[in-house]
Amino acid sequence: MKADDTLRSDRSENLEFTPEVKAATADVWERVRGVLPEIEWPVHAPLIHAIRQWKQRRNAVILAHNYQTPEIFHGVADLTGDSLALAQQAADTEADLIVLCGVHFMAETAKILNPEKTVLIPDRRAGCSLADSITGADIRLLKERYPGVPVVTYVNTSAEVKAETDVCCTSSNALAVVESLDSDRVLFLPDEYLARWVASQTDKEIIAWKGHCEVHERFTGDELRRYRENDPGLQIIAHPECPPDVLDEADFVGSTSAMIGYVGDHKPRKVVMVTECSMSDNVAVAHPDVEFVRPCNLCPHMKRITLPKILDSLIHLRDEVTVEPDVAKRARRAVERMLAIPTHGLHRGSRSESPVEPELIARAPVTDSLTGLSTTGPLS
Ligand code: SF4
Repeated sequence: MKADDTLRSDRSENLEFTPEVKAATADVWERVRGVLPEIEWPVHAPLIHAIRQWKQRRNAVILAHNYQTPEIFHGVADLTGDSLALAQQAADTEADLIVLCGVHFMAETAKILNPEKTVLIPDRRAGCSLADSITGADIRLLKERYPGVPVVTYVNTSAEVKAETDVCCTSSNALAVVESLDSDRVLFLPDEYLARWVASQTDKEIIAWKGHCEVHERFTGDELRRYRENDPGLQIIAHPECPPDVLDEADFVGSTSAMIGYVGDHKPRKVVMVTECSMSDNVAVAHPDVEFVRPCNLCPHMKRITLPKILDSLIHLRDEVTVEPDVAKRARRAVERMLAIPTHGLHRGSRSESPVEPELIARAPVTDSLTGLSTTGPLS
């Protein structure tokens, strides 16, 4: 078959669920049959088969975040994990091509750590409300306002923001990063709730920004109390991007990787994972004996990534993620500083007795607000 014919036959609309495809993807079906409806499999399987073939042709590696759907997470990903794990794996890969199945800041981070490799995102519109809540100009203003105070930013930020940062962090290592700094005050940006959580675990003064994850901020403590009233033996494990009243109800608070580890270690009879909906499906594959309650808050940005778009991305080498070299160089320094810090995690089960409330700041008046935040000085 000529190359053009191969391209034509691999267009997603031309793919068929043949006996050959069925046999070649049987391993994936065995893994996901508990979480995917059987009626969907003839649609997913030919795409998974074609993507696996194109990965080999391109010497590509597919990195998928824990929030990707099971057919991506278990079907085509070579490496999976939370933002920290993806950043580490992106730094280590030998592949020529990285396809990042996650949101745009994750693909930028992969590019920052692999400037010589081609990094693709199957849909460049996959954004993030946290990343959109702050700009490089905001950070520069904050540095003027708090001279000498180190700046820690969550990896859920643009390359431009990382370039203005002293050190990045993820929800896995946020506490370890803050504690590693030789300063009593830390600017911790942009997630307010993660900042509050870190403030409750450290003696350092935390100055926070009012950015939120649009998925995690929708959970409420009331909702979780109702789950627990219905079944007092239920375990509640929550992501630190959730509001404080949600974290107060949790038996355990941790990053997505820590939450997965908690299920594996404790094997709860019944658990509610207070985070993006697809993660419960992905974890349930490995833990058929655990009953998962699924309050289904989906991330619309993560869900832009689909199997047809991944195939399209591999065939046509799009959408390529680029970062301006000087920005990449400065951002890389902040990410590499983070990767050099040993991770002890943010995995404590409860808050400290006397949490230090973070000082909250709002977006300064010079920038266009993407968040609708108030436009004047300190809120508290
Ligand atoms: S789940 Fe929240 S933090 Fe993660 S990508 Fe979606 S909006 Fe951003």
